[in-house]
Amino acid sequence: MLAALTDVGEAETAGGRALLAERYRALQRQIPLLYTICLANLLGLHLAVTKGFASLVHPSTLLIPLILIRLYHWTRTRNADMPPERIVRELTLLRGGGETEQYYVILFGSLASIGCAYGLSSFPGAARLPLLFLALPLATMLILSPISGHVGLGISIALIIVLILRLLSVHNESFVKLVESRVQVEAERERARRAEKAAKAEKAKARRIADTDPLTGLANRRAFLRSLGRQAGLIERDGGAATLAIVDLDGFKPINDTFGHAMGDAVLEEVGRRLTAAGGPASMIARMGGDEFALILESCGDEAEAQRAGRAICRVLEDAVFIDSREFHISGCCGLTILRAGDCNVTEALIRADTALYRAKEQGRAGTAVFSQEMGRLQRRRTRIEQALRRPEERDLISLVYQPIFDISNNSLRAFEALARWEHPELGTLSPAEFIPIAEQVSAIETISDRLLEAAAAEALLWPDSVRLSFNVSAVQLCTAGCAARILAILGNRGIHPRRLQVEVTETALLVDFATARTNLQALRAAGTRIVLDDFGAGHASISYLREMQFDGIKLDGALVASVQSTGSRRLLKGVVDLCASLGVPCVAEHIEQESELDLLRGLGCRYGQGFLLSPPLAAADAAALAGGTVTRLRRAAA
Ligand code: C2E
Ligand code: MG
Ligand code: MG
Repeated sequence: MLAALTDVGEAETAGGRALLAERYRALQRQIPLLYTICLANLLGLHLAVTKGFASLVHPSTLLIPLILIRLYHWTRTRNADMPPERIVRELTLLRGGGETEQYYVILFGSLASIGCAYGLSSFPGAARLPLLFLALPLATMLILSPISGHVGLGISIALIIVLILRLLSVHNESFVKLVESRVQVEAERERARRAEKAAKAEKAKARRIADTDPLTGLANRRAFLRSLGRQAGLIERDGGAATLAIVDLDGFKPINDTFGHAMGDAVLEEVGRRLTAAGGPASMIARMGGDEFALILESCGDEAEAQRAGRAICRVLEDAVFIDSREFHISGCCGLTILRAGDCNVTEALIRADTALYRAKEQGRAGTAVFSQEMGRLQRRRTRIEQALRRPEERDLISLVYQPIFDISNNSLRAFEALARWEHPELGTLSPAEFIPIAEQVSAIETISDRLLEAAAAEALLWPDSVRLSFNVSAVQLCTAGCAARILAILGNRGIHPRRLQVEVTETALLVDFATARTNLQALRAAGTRIVLDDFGAGHASISYLREMQFDGIKLDGALVASVQSTGSRRLLKGVVDLCASLGVPCVAEHIEQESELDLLRGLGCRYGQGFLLSPPLAAADAAALAGGTVTRLRRAAA
């Protein structure tokens, strides 16, 4: 259509002018319609491709006012008669100016489209459009121009277009590669991030497992010690107090041994649940190992509160536990210590709680004790005794004294009971009742006992054959396989017949491991050694032991003799003496301190006796003198 309008040279002749005027009139009618169509299409395009506020800055928006201005111009001049010069000017304007201007339009249009292509180079699909649909047709127009200069220009623009198309494709390839590699790098990064996250989760899980007791799901010792350290740090920094409690079950081992470990595990799980409930929210609870649990009670900061908390903990353990329609009765002892600012050492706190637990256990089942300074003093003494028992030069200071045992029916000497004595230069005189249990715990008892038995056997060689050596064998020893063989070997080495020996065992020794104790006692008995049950009536052992084990003598606990002043106790003593008689086992009364007691025992038919009234424990030489008949009854001889 433009080409048809370009020939404004028609205005040179009258006919040409009439033709131009006619063309112009026709255009006056059509052009407003043309602009209206353009406007409608632009608006349609505009609405179809843009949304929201962004539509206001779309390039097509810029054309709209231009079209409106032109539409207004053509509508206004629609029916106006125009002079030929004006018509020529309008038409020239309509076809894009004169020839030179047209070539400028082509040139600048081409350059603009090349510029556009460059600007859109990141999106080759769009970048090719101005080149192919604007620059290329314009270059073609130049090539087709009759002016040779324009042809050259057209060809060079066409070549530039080809070059740019090529550049666009190369640029696009490397751009795509760049983006791909960026995507790849990002994917790698994402993978690394995920792997790191998974590793972190794995690590947290491993830490959780490392800090958890697998059986009860509670914290384990490791995690507990960490928490205790943290708590101690907080108290040191901010003040306040908290209580550390250690709980140890009573009678758990028999459940494990009798009903199997699965049942034992179920009991421990239940204990964990109960302690969690008893501890309350402001506490940390852990299984320290075996049947030992520990709690940090944050809201518990003085001795009375700690006592109450300890008792509450013991109480929740006392209710029967039902597992697989079986009923178990367990209990636990609780040792507590208070952590205060300035006195918050974790190791020290654990030792203190253990010390308190030890004292609680001494009270029997379900005992509770809060650590005190006196306990600390006793604990330090105990530690010192432990050290001394481990050092040969100190433990070799342990010696023996011998207390005579008489046949009280005729006052004849029948045996000497060997009793350990320890004169320690630093600790003073130690009672065997104090150091023997410690020696058992630190596994020094066998070494000590062997040495004492050797010494006692050497002394017994000095006594007449009718006088026996009565030797105390501890629970730990008796429940150790090979104990009988050791004793018999020592006697053999000294050349003393096992018949000269009588071993004294306590009820507790039988309670620990009855089977091993019985094996040892049977071996000793088979060799001719007499077996005497010591301290009968002091513990909780049942009479069934008297039936199951054959004893050659029963020693009545000193407390039974000491309380005979009251009628009730006299009846009890008589009952026990009668029991021994009905079993056909002679009984030995201990702790005879008064003539009345001696007379009473004689009257009850008790055969043997020992006690301060008859003779205190004697030094070896005095015992030998008594046995040799130089003296008959030391006290009376002295008198
Ligand atoms: P035990 O075998 O019942 O010994 C009797 C205890 O009563 C001895 O105490 C003795 O000194 C004391 N005693 C004797 N007569 C009287 C009296 O009239 N009144 C009072 N109140 N006490 C009297 P000891 O020597 O302190 O021994 C305590 C316990 O230590 C012994 O009780 C025994 O179980 C154990 N023991 C002593 N020596 C040894 C030993 O060499 N080995 C082992 N395994 N235990 C020993
Ligand atoms: Mg004894
Ligand atoms: Mg005794």
